[in-house]
Amino acid sequence: VPIEPFEHLKKDFAILNQIVNDEPLVYLDNAATTQKPEAVLQALETYYHTSNANVHRGVHTLAERATSQYEGSREVIRAFIHASETAEVLFTRGTTTSLNWVARSFGELIVESGDEILISYMEHHSNIIPWQQLAKKKNAKLIYMELTEDGQLDLEDVKNKITDKTKIVSLTHVSNVLGVVNPIKQIADWVHEQNGYLVVDGAQAVPHMPVDVQALDADFYAFSGHKMLGPTGIGVLYGKRALLEQMEPIEFGGEMIDFVEEQDSTWKELPWKFEAGTPNIAGAIGLAAAIHYLNNIGMENIMQHEREIVEYIMPKLEAIEGLTLFGPKDVAHRTGVISFNIDGIHPHDVATAMDMEGVAVRAGHHCAQPLMTYMNQPATARASFYLYNTKAEADKFVEAIIATKEFFLNGLN
Ligand code: PMP
Repeated sequence: VPIEPFEHLKKDFAILNQIVNDEPLVYLDNAATTQKPEAVLQALETYYHTSNANVHRGVHTLAERATSQYEGSREVIRAFIHASETAEVLFTRGTTTSLNWVARSFGELIVESGDEILISYMEHHSNIIPWQQLAKKKNAKLIYMELTEDGQLDLEDVKNKITDKTKIVSLTHVSNVLGVVNPIKQIADWVHEQNGYLVVDGAQAVPHMPVDVQALDADFYAFSGHKMLGPTGIGVLYGKRALLEQMEPIEFGGEMIDFVEEQDSTWKELPWKFEAGTPNIAGAIGLAAAIHYLNNIGMENIMQHEREIVEYIMPKLEAIEGLTLFGPKDVAHRTGVISFNIDGIHPHDVATAMDMEGVAVRAGHHCAQPLMTYMNQPATARASFYLYNTKAEADKFVEAIIATKEFFLNGLN
């Protein structure tokens, strides 16, 4: 068997080298969360062994060490997403927090009664509910962009719906259900022509492809550390300085203030104005370590690797009778997220049966209930590949689908 180019990565992920239900684990739930390489675990351990202290406030050696590592991580992230300055990189708990901050702070500032907020039918709940809440509060309209038959954005509909009433368009860069990649720059141009603003949910994009927030011309861009080999509880909100400057913080307290008087206070400059309280210092350091790991492999290479797996597996999946695939077939428009259903078998039963074969996939609505309704599916099963997955595992995945089908449809034999 030829060694695959990414096969050797497995040694960096102890958790992947285990037996589950008497079978070698094939972890295909990377859209939910990814595993952490030894380098990230080491970075966390080293930080706690050598440098743990609170940031920004101390003058002692450990405090300075922790502060410089925390702020150094911000610079690593800035460079990774090509933001122009670290003032535009805010640490959050993850994509959900980032999107809530934008809806509550920026939305509060610019959305008025009768205005329109535009999202799409492929959004994750965390890019729906904050806008629903804002629309209700402001008496604004929440409007959905339609999808094509194969799950891509219907660009004609998008263009028609972006008007001078559109204050905010908030769109996922990559769908966590369909794997489809949206043309962010094109939409940014349309939104900006109408003097609106574009918010991008990058949770499923930043881990899988090179992202340049300036080239995309996104006004805000959100993502999570845990989906890109980093720890849970750390994420990022990128925002253009001119917009962040105008916004009020969502949380108030220590670390984010300049002066506090009895009745009034002033805020620190960006990015600290938004980061109230002791931040997730170890999380930021762990995320920077994850980015070093990804950069060593190269985001172009990672994207190419996932494409090759999708290209390899699509014909095999299409050949399975009774299997429905959601999202575009063309690899140029998608990542390694593959949602599917098998006729006559509930997706939860599919996921349970596949787990018996050691293959970890997810089943459910994937936090995208409006999309499920739109596609007329109660749920789907979903496999999501990442850099450490191999073609051999993709084969195992196909075999597990066939075994599942036989188990349920032909009975026990
Ligand atoms: N948006 C998308 C597209 C996602 O896939 C996810 C995670 N499933 C989120 C937002 C939310 O991310 P988190 O739970 O890390 O805040």
